[in-house]
Amino acid sequence: MPKILDVVTIPAKSLRQRSQEVEVTQIGTPDFQGFLDDLIATMEVQHNAAGLAAPQVGRNIRVFVVNENTGPKVYINPEIEVMSETVVESEEGCFSVPGVWGMVPRAKKVRLKSLDRHGRRLETAAKGFQAIVFQHEFDHLEGVLFIDKMTHKTQGLGTKSV
Ligand SMILES: [Zn+2]
Repeated sequence: MPKILDVVTIPAKSLRQRSQEVEVTQIGTPDFQGFLDDLIATMEVQHNAAGLAAPQVGRNIRVFVVNENTGPKVYINPEIEVMSETVVESEEGCFSVPGVWGMVPRAKKVRLKSLDRHGRRLETAAKGFQAIVFQHEFDHLEGVLFIDKMTHKTQGLGTKSV
């Protein structure tokens, strides 16, 4: 059974460190696969969750999970490429920054290159909300939080947290 992990909040150190690449040989191990299941379970137990990154549960490794229409999806060692000069501003919230919502400018379209939970190469073109979630989660792996980029605070009515 997957475990529900503790989500850390600011000023936890893990939120401000650059996370380490996952060794490809690690991916297939029961330990690592168990951690992925725990991370997914921890995301799914939160109300209104769109995604969760490993540093948010105190692990500084380059992994995040996203709640997608097709189910939870794992992204390992992601690289992000901006595909559109257009910047859109939308409201964001974060489980690691409780009680704060704000407007954050992000690239409208991105491409994410990563490995999936089986270590296979994965390339995902994203726009709209998915593109925002990718950029927010990727920032977590760099030790960057949305409050670093937000232009102003908002009320956070109904916005999903990531
Ligand atoms: Zn977050």
